[in-house]
Amino acid sequence: MKSMKIWPAAMELALLLGLLVAGGCGRGDQASKQPPPREPETTPDVQAKIPEVVVKVRPSHEHAAFRERVAERTAMVSKQIAQRAFAQPVKDQKVLEAMRMVPRHVFVPQRYQGQAYADRPLQIGYGQTISQPYIVGYMTELLELDEESKVLEIGTGSGYQAAVAAELAGRVYSIEIIKALGESGRRRLKELGYKNVQVKVADGYYGWPEKGPFEAIIVTAASSHIPGPLIEQLKPGGRLVIPLGSAWRAQELVLLSKGADGTITSRGVMGVRFVPMVGKAQE
Ligand code: SAH
Repeated sequence: MKSMKIWPAAMELALLLGLLVAGGCGRGDQASKQPPPREPETTPDVQAKIPEVVVKVRPSHEHAAFRERVAERTAMVSKQIAQRAFAQPVKDQKVLEAMRMVPRHVFVPQRYQGQAYADRPLQIGYGQTISQPYIVGYMTELLELDEESKVLEIGTGSGYQAAVAAELAGRVYSIEIIKALGESGRRRLKELGYKNVQVKVADGYYGWPEKGPFEAIIVTAASSHIPGPLIEQLKPGGRLVIPLGSAWRAQELVLLSKGADGTITSRGVMGVRFVPMVGKAQE
C-alpha cells in the first residue's frame, strides 16, 4: 500500500513526543472565483459590504490517493457511520458520500496506517489527534452544508475535517494554532487538490473576520465557552458546532443556530471528548 509522503521525519518525532500526552480528540462517548458581481447603483458605503461571492471549486479527485483503500473507506462508512449502535447514525447521503471519497489514510501518520479506517481518533503529533470518523461525519451533518456555504473551521489538525467539508461546501477557511500542523495540513490539502480550502496559522478564538460572515462554523477543540467573535461571524441562518466543557472531562457537543433575525438558540447533541482549545479561550 503506497501513500503520500507528506509526513516528514520531524512530524514523526513530534508524534512520538505527542504519545506521551494521553487522550483523544473528537471522540463520542460511546476556486476559482467568478468575476465580481456588477456594481449596483448604491452608495459607496453599501458597496463596501457586498459579501464575497462563493463559487464551488469541485475537488478534482485526480490524485491517486482517492483510488487507494476504497473498500476500507466504504466499510468504515457503512459499519461505523451510516449504522451505529447506541448513537445516532449519520443519514445525510451527501455527507456519507464525502466520507467515502476523502482518503483518510493520507491524513494519518505512517505508524498508524493500519488503523486509518478504524473507529477511533489517532495521534497526529504535538499532543493532537485526528478525530474519530463518526464524529467528523456527525458534526458535518449538523452543519447542513451545500455548495453555497462558506465554512470556518477552528483546529485544522491533520486537515481531514476540512477536506470532508470541502467536498460539500463552496469554501472552507480553517485556522490552526500550531504552526507545524497548520503548514502540513495546508500542504496535504493542496496536494490532494482541494482548491477551495484556505488554512491560516493563528488563534482561532478571533475567527477570520475578513472572510466572514460564515454559513457554518465548526470548532474541533473544546472550550469552556463559545468565543464571542465566532458568534459574531456567523451569518443569520447559520449554524455553529462546538464541544463545550473542560479539558479531558465530560464535554458536550453543542449546536448553535442564529435565526434570520439574529436570535441565538443552542442545544446539546452528544457527549464527546476533544483536546482543549488553547490560547485566548483559556485566559
Ligand atoms: N479537525 C482536526 C482535528 C482537530 S484536533 C482534524 O480533522 O484532524 C484539534 C486541533 O485544534 C489541534 O490541531 C489543535 O492544535 C487545534 N487548536 C487548539 N486550540 C486552537 C485555537 N485556539 N485556534 C486554532 N486551533 C486550535
